[in-house]
Amino acid sequence: TSAIELENVVKEYLSHGEVVQAVKGVSLDIAEGEFFSLLGPSGCGKTTTMRMIAGFEAPSKGLVKLHGQDVTNVPPNKRDVNMVFQSYALFPHMSVWDNVAFGLKQRKTPQDEIKRRVGEMLEIVDLTGREKRRPREMSGGQQQRVALARALVNRPRALLLDEPLGALDLKLRQAMQIELKRIQREVGITFVYVTHDQNEALTMSDRIAVMNDGLVEQLAGPREIYERPATAFVAGFIGTSNLLAGSATGGELKIGGGRVLVPGHEGDVRVTVRPEKITIGTEEPSNGLSAVRGTVAEVVYLGTYNSYAVSLADGADATERSEGANQTQHGNRDDRAAARGGTIITVF
Ligand code: ADP
Ligand code: MG
Repeated sequence: TSAIELENVVKEYLSHGEVVQAVKGVSLDIAEGEFFSLLGPSGCGKTTTMRMIAGFEAPSKGLVKLHGQDVTNVPPNKRDVNMVFQSYALFPHMSVWDNVAFGLKQRKTPQDEIKRRVGEMLEIVDLTGREKRRPREMSGGQQQRVALARALVNRPRALLLDEPLGALDLKLRQAMQIELKRIQREVGITFVYVTHDQNEALTMSDRIAVMNDGLVEQLAGPREIYERPATAFVAGFIGTSNLLAGSATGGELKIGGGRVLVPGHEGDVRVTVRPEKITIGTEEPSNGLSAVRGTVAEVVYLGTYNSYAVSLADGADATERSEGANQTQHGNRDDRAAARGGTIITVF
């Protein structure tokens, strides 16, 4: 059975006398042991969705199921899930050990079992030897690991994490992403991870639900989401993308003084093209690829690649950014043409 299921869940709030739908009908099916992410911009309903899984909010409509059981009306403390927040919410006056042991003591767990389980958990989060410290004597990353240990020591069947790395700086955040993934594998429980950071979601997740305005726009693995975005929103939100729009006839979209092949599509189309699929050159391709004409308006050096901003020949507002990787497989790239801003052809 699935670890977590949402069936057409809606959450409405009354705000200044008006009904606001924070979540507009979300269905999810999260597998046991999965690292599952809810990804989307601020205000799209991620936290509200999580709070309904945890039981802090009751859905206005729909069902929440945990391990096959309907828990829609079950209070949080009776659900076999735990939640970790961005603000670690550690007890400041307690040592690391006592923070982690707190829940077990509350439940009158036998001393020797507390000792074993807390010790084990501190080892998993790599804090052995720091048992006596207070939270304020530790770095942000260490505090987050204490919070994680505290949430995991009760052995919930699922852990919900709401932007848990949001307070950390980039380097530490990236290190913690790898660390979190390792811990999840080690403890083998279901993680539901909320983030607005696409890189974070792509790095860690088995599957991602991309949310926008209270709805799931796409639910798939990282590769699928990146390479086959289901909607213009997903294409724009995940990575960099060029959006070309127009009316297609005969499986072709005439645009930018050239054509884009859209086999099987007629009429209004929107095409997204990942920058790394684009080659820049000065000659028409001979092999029937899609090609548009334009002028390099700007080249920005970004270390591992250059970013090319190209204005299309017919002034279409389409190409936002073209990036040609700074590597030999993009051999058609002509730096001289680019530098002098002559007419160039982008191929994909
Ligand atoms: P996210 O976590 O993706 O940033 P939230 O789930 O926190 O989004 O919020 C989704 C929407 O619901 C937002 O527009 C927010 O203002 C609204 N909202 C959330 N909680 C409440 C509440 N308690 N009362 C009224 N509106 C709320
Ligand atoms: Mg939130």
